[in-house]
Amino acid sequence: MKQIVAVLNQKGGVGKTTTTLNLGAYLAKMGNTVLVVDADPQGNATSGLGVDKTRLDVTLCDVLVSGIDMNSAVIQTSTKNVKLLPTDARLASTELDIADNTDRELKLKKALVGQDYDYVLIDCPPSLSLLTINALTASDLVLIPVQSEYYALEGLSQLLQVMQQVQRSHNPDLELLGVVMTMYDKRTALSQQVYDEVGKHFGDKLLNTIIPRNIRLAEAPSHGTPISEYDKWSKGARAYKNLAKEIHSRVQGGHK
Ligand code: ATP
Ligand code: MG
Repeated sequence: MKQIVAVLNQKGGVGKTTTTLNLGAYLAKMGNTVLVVDADPQGNATSGLGVDKTRLDVTLCDVLVSGIDMNSAVIQTSTKNVKLLPTDARLASTELDIADNTDRELKLKKALVGQDYDYVLIDCPPSLSLLTINALTASDLVLIPVQSEYYALEGLSQLLQVMQQVQRSHNPDLELLGVVMTMYDKRTALSQQVYDEVGKHFGDKLLNTIIPRNIRLAEAPSHGTPISEYDKWSKGARAYKNLAKEIHSRVQGGHK
């Protein structure tokens, strides 16, 4: 079953990119073909997969603005079965470039038509902007990383409202895959409180797998590789491996 998943939370620094890259790497290790779409002008997913974003000829920006075939921008990463639709700083002006087009929300969806990956994971920017709307319009599922900290739930109702808007306008089949807790510190009562609070709001949409705070996860991007290559025995690696298994079985089981 092929799935397009938007990894989204408009709050910055909650673990969207870390989740996209490492979930992608472990889904690929399980035998799935994976395309990571870097939909954030910061280009963190691009550099985190070892690609120099200052040296790219063709990027997501060209796909969205000029409508060129996405296959001419996609590159193989050093991780087997993980490909990347990269981005560079030009994506920052893309929203303005496409704002007057009547199909401005549909650009990414159109670009992904006919894609043949088992999973397409879209790393969204920390905003509910037109790029994010493109991601939601193109996706089957939404995965929300939530950081285990006091203000975790703030902004989530707005996010869910935007999801509903997209369901009403362009994508009635869009579904919430789940919420994943990130940067969890089991030594603090706060992490547990936040987990319980999120559980109250999201019920079984709160994924069982919890991503701990783990320095190895923060180090891996500077080596241009996912945690599966950088330190596969770390706590963070084991957590993302479990997350990949849990998500794959939820998707396969149809009980998303
Ligand atoms: P942005 O909103 O800017 O795109 P983001 O939501 O994509 O941010 P990340 O870039 O994945 O968040 O993570 C923010 C920072 O926290 C990064 O420096 C990352 O390496 C670090 N980080 C992410 N997850 C963990 C973790 N589980 N343990 C320790 N550090 C982490
Ligand atoms: Mg990011």
